[in-house]
Amino acid sequence: MTALIEARSLAKHFPSRDGKAVVKAVSEVSLAVAEGETLGIVGESGCGKSTLARLLLRLIEPTSGDILFRGESLIDLDAAALRKRRRDIQIVFQDPYASLDPRMTIASIIAEPLDIHGIGSRAERRTKTLELLDLVGLDPAAAGRYPHEFSGGQRQRIGIARAIALEPRLVVLDEPVSALDVSIQSQILNLLADLKARLRLSYIFISHDLSVVEHVSDAVAVMYLGRIVEHGKTEDVLSNPLHPYTQALVSAVPEIDPAAKRQRIVLSGDPPNPEHIPPGCPFHPRCPQAFDTCRNLLPPLETVRGRQIACHLIHIGASALPRNP
Ligand code: SF4
Repeated sequence: MTALIEARSLAKHFPSRDGKAVVKAVSEVSLAVAEGETLGIVGESGCGKSTLARLLLRLIEPTSGDILFRGESLIDLDAAALRKRRRDIQIVFQDPYASLDPRMTIASIIAEPLDIHGIGSRAERRTKTLELLDLVGLDPAAAGRYPHEFSGGQRQRIGIARAIALEPRLVVLDEPVSALDVSIQSQILNLLADLKARLRLSYIFISHDLSVVEHVSDAVAVMYLGRIVEHGKTEDVLSNPLHPYTQALVSAVPEIDPAAKRQRIVLSGDPPNPEHIPPGCPFHPRCPQAFDTCRNLLPPLETVRGRQIACHLIHIGASALPRNP
């Protein structure tokens, strides 16, 4: 079956600030999202996940690789064709305040994509805007108010209403609840789940918070310094992480059952800096299981036990990897 969206060996390299080096923000990323699926992308700040989000929408141009939407390359599209295709792929940003123009009423903000794409008459756009407000749980009577008159959670609802205005097939959610209080986070996550079911959406859900991704994703891709290091079904990856970096991330997620004690793996060394990617396995300076090969040979992403993993441990004997529970 053709994937809804597919990235093939996607890379984005920038010159460093001083122009003397190359920052490899995203390297050799391949992934696919099926219709109706939610793919979670997790990793620490600086791992390249937000750059990947912008690449998938072609908000920035890749250095190499391809992006296919329903089998059609987005890279080959000219500006007019790309604009048309963007109706199908929308994004919700982390900071709902920064992403909303403070000089516009929320009705104008939500209607803006409809205006840009010339959809419907003015009256129809107005009706649609009020429907969207209702759909995301806001009072349509508030349509004439400005973003600063709303709370953080309400502003994120406005951002979501704008993202779904064009009836996209895929919404990229870039840390959509990170800036919100925990109590509000669950309301927004419930709204996203409800919209996904009602509008038959697919999501790419980007987050540094594995516990959030666990609740919303069918599959999860773990990124470290611009590369996917583990990718598989959420349940498999989180119940039995195979990559040492995923193991550390999972060990930091609080257990709901107080009797279930998980041993926390505390990573040593510096957090990832894409301006200084170590040779060999990029994770080796912090990896508790690193051995000689890791320092000079980059592990490829390979399929093991129904998931993908980039770690040399898979070649030194099954005993090196944790057993299935
Ligand atoms: Fe650790 Fe080596 Fe595996 Fe990298 S390849 S995650 S350094 S064991």
